[in-house]
Amino acid sequence: MTESSTRLYRGRFAPSPTGPLHFGSLLAATASYLQAKQQQGQWLLRIEDLDPPREVPGAAEAFLYTLEAFGFEWDGEVCWQSRRLDHYEAILDELLQQGLAYRCACSRKAITQQAEQLGLQAGIYRGHCRSRHISAHQQHAVRLLTEGARIRFVDAVQGEIQQDLDREVGDFVLRRADGFIAYQLAVVVDDAAHGITEVVRGSDLLDSTPRQIFLQQQLGYARPDYLHLPVAVNPQGQKLSKQSFAAAISPADALHSLWQALNFLGQQAPVELLDGGRDDLWRWAREHWQAQAIPRKLAIPYPSESPSNEH
Ligand code: GLU
Ligand code: ZN
Repeated sequence: MTESSTRLYRGRFAPSPTGPLHFGSLLAATASYLQAKQQQGQWLLRIEDLDPPREVPGAAEAFLYTLEAFGFEWDGEVCWQSRRLDHYEAILDELLQQGLAYRCACSRKAITQQAEQLGLQAGIYRGHCRSRHISAHQQHAVRLLTEGARIRFVDAVQGEIQQDLDREVGDFVLRRADGFIAYQLAVVVDDAAHGITEVVRGSDLLDSTPRQIFLQQQLGYARPDYLHLPVAVNPQGQKLSKQSFAAAISPADALHSLWQALNFLGQQAPVELLDGGRDDLWRWAREHWQAQAIPRKLAIPYPSESPSNEH
């Protein structure tokens, strides 16, 4: 037996409470859940509440309620990132002390100008402050040094991905100048702390994955497997507008939404399941789930292209 066939599978769902749970998040919840269940693994729930200005009061509680109403059962306690700030700060200190991260005092405007001068795409930060020794007393962001970092990995659905971090992303932020811990740091620390063996999530985060893998390497963490769900595109192959993909899901339509999510994920859930109950649908899904059937792209306009509420 190989090591991977004996280790416990651990997956997770990690929504940010910046609005109601929408169809895109239901896809991520459903796929990560069924992957874990099929492998007799665990499925953890983590609330990524690290960006208070973008958070909607009550959204996290509504997630828990909605997930329960849909029939999801998570293992253990819910993890709230906002309660783990000391832990993230300790890891930042370590990275700073080892010279793997550094303080940056550049303004947004300065960063834009630097990129222009170097002929780089806007937003790419090429290490202006790497050797400036910015004092901790000055307002600063903390950035990870990415010099020479080239990352390659194989995603279970999207295939081989390569990124030259230095050139395509630059030294990215681990703690923002306003003091908030960046998603990239918290997600890597928590996936490792919880022993996550496979990350299943939407392809909107595919571009972040090389950053996360590099940070894992710098911290000496194991790399989980990755499975990025398809991007939703309309029949012309254009990315579905965020607005239409972001329509809220409602517990009142749980059965239908779940059925639709399964079919989006390439699982051929028979239409008769719509006449039964939620539990029968889950039973079918657990028995028939096939990650190999997940398409790389979703060419279906859903929900209808009518504008949803802004949030
Ligand atoms: N919190 C992120 C989001 O809601 C997802 C993080 C992840 O799955 O890595 O977009
Ligand atoms: Zn700087």
